[in-house]
Amino acid sequence: MNSNEIDIHKELKKYFGFSQFKGLQEQVIKSLLNKQNTFVIMPTGGGKSLCYQLPALVQEGTAIVVSPLIALMKNQVDAIRSLSSEKGIAHVLNSSLTKTEIAQVKKDITSGLTKLLYVAPESLTKEENVNFLKNVTISFVAIDEAHCISEWGHDFRPEYRNLKNIIKQIGDVPVIGLTATATPKVQEDILKNLDMCDATTFKASFNRPNLYYEVRTKTKNIESDIIRFIKQHKGKSGIIYCLSRKKVEAVAQVLQVNGISAVPYHAGLDAKTRAKHQDMFLMEDVDVVVATIAFGMGIDKPDVRFVIHHDIPKSLESYYQETGRAGRDGGEGHCLAYYSYKDVEKLEKFMSGKPVAEQEIGFALLQEVVAYAETSMSRRKFLLHYFGEEFDSATGEGADMDDNIRNPKVKVEAKDQAVK
Ligand code: ADP
Ligand code: MG
Repeated sequence: MNSNEIDIHKELKKYFGFSQFKGLQEQVIKSLLNKQNTFVIMPTGGGKSLCYQLPALVQEGTAIVVSPLIALMKNQVDAIRSLSSEKGIAHVLNSSLTKTEIAQVKKDITSGLTKLLYVAPESLTKEENVNFLKNVTISFVAIDEAHCISEWGHDFRPEYRNLKNIIKQIGDVPVIGLTATATPKVQEDILKNLDMCDATTFKASFNRPNLYYEVRTKTKNIESDIIRFIKQHKGKSGIIYCLSRKKVEAVAQVLQVNGISAVPYHAGLDAKTRAKHQDMFLMEDVDVVVATIAFGMGIDKPDVRFVIHHDIPKSLESYYQETGRAGRDGGEGHCLAYYSYKDVEKLEKFMSGKPVAEQEIGFALLQEVVAYAETSMSRRKFLLHYFGEEFDSATGEGADMDDNIRNPKVKVEAKDQAVK
């Protein structure tokens, strides 16, 4: 069956209740239904899951979906099951299943009931599983969060490196790779490692025209500067990212003392406190969360009005993801980063304990952050260029939404200031 014989609009409505595809979804789905290797680069929230879920549901056989996080897989399986009367339509295969559960999964796949099988890469490498999957009908393999294959990505997982090998053993099926990481280096790595340089690539724009980007030089008055900023945004929701747990606690306390409703969030807090603080933020019982990067994965609060980086992030990739949590609803989103060269040196020192190869990558990524912070050009242009996208800083959408464009200034080198 190819895409010409399936009314994918009808199927979209039937399974998902949507009357329109979002962005490039339709083209991606057609490519996959035509059995082409396909590569999808879309920002978070772009609707990548549907690009493989719909083709899986309308085709014969089972689609294998590789995903790095058990929690994400469980969410998706529950969501798919809610679309159908058959629980067996989607399954997770992992090491936590009992023998009886595994037998049921295999039975549902063999009978053709299961359309989506979610697996962690380490389960897919198991010989027993590979042998089973070789002998059933597989429609295609989807590799979600495909940047995990690259050391240049923000979440390198060595097990992803084995995938190509295993897919070849399973059979000659189309592969779809999906990621929200848009840097050319990571893309190249993905295509090379999955041996799919022939893939049709679909890349959505990463421009977020409603976000305002600003960088301020970090001084010892940073806390009062932040307090002033928040008071100017009274009653609005915001996130402040800090590098360390200690800093998170300290900043949260300073804000509280100054009458701002804020809670800390970091991996050092117990699960109950973390969940409570997250809920308080989502329910708007507090305005501000002061957090380490542990906060944000899967947070979908549409009306976050500002994201402040108290300390610079370790890559522009992280910066884009973290600032991306502002203005999801299309409304105002102020992204304010504080920058000092001392912080860069601190991050470099952190990295010096790591293996050399990792260090080199870390330094290179950090240098891009430095260049972004110190640039006097359009920040949006800079960011998008980093993601391999050309942006016209005269006419592009959101062209005047950054400090360099609104208040052109003589370049300040924070490096020189640190010396003083
Ligand atoms: P990504 O994996 O790219 O971050 P998701 O697949 O999680 O994005 O989708 C983000 C959101 O977009 C989900 O809430 C999903 O239901 C919604 N979505 C996806 N496709 C459509 C569509 N065609 N119309 C409306 N909403 C959609
Ligand atoms: Mg996704």
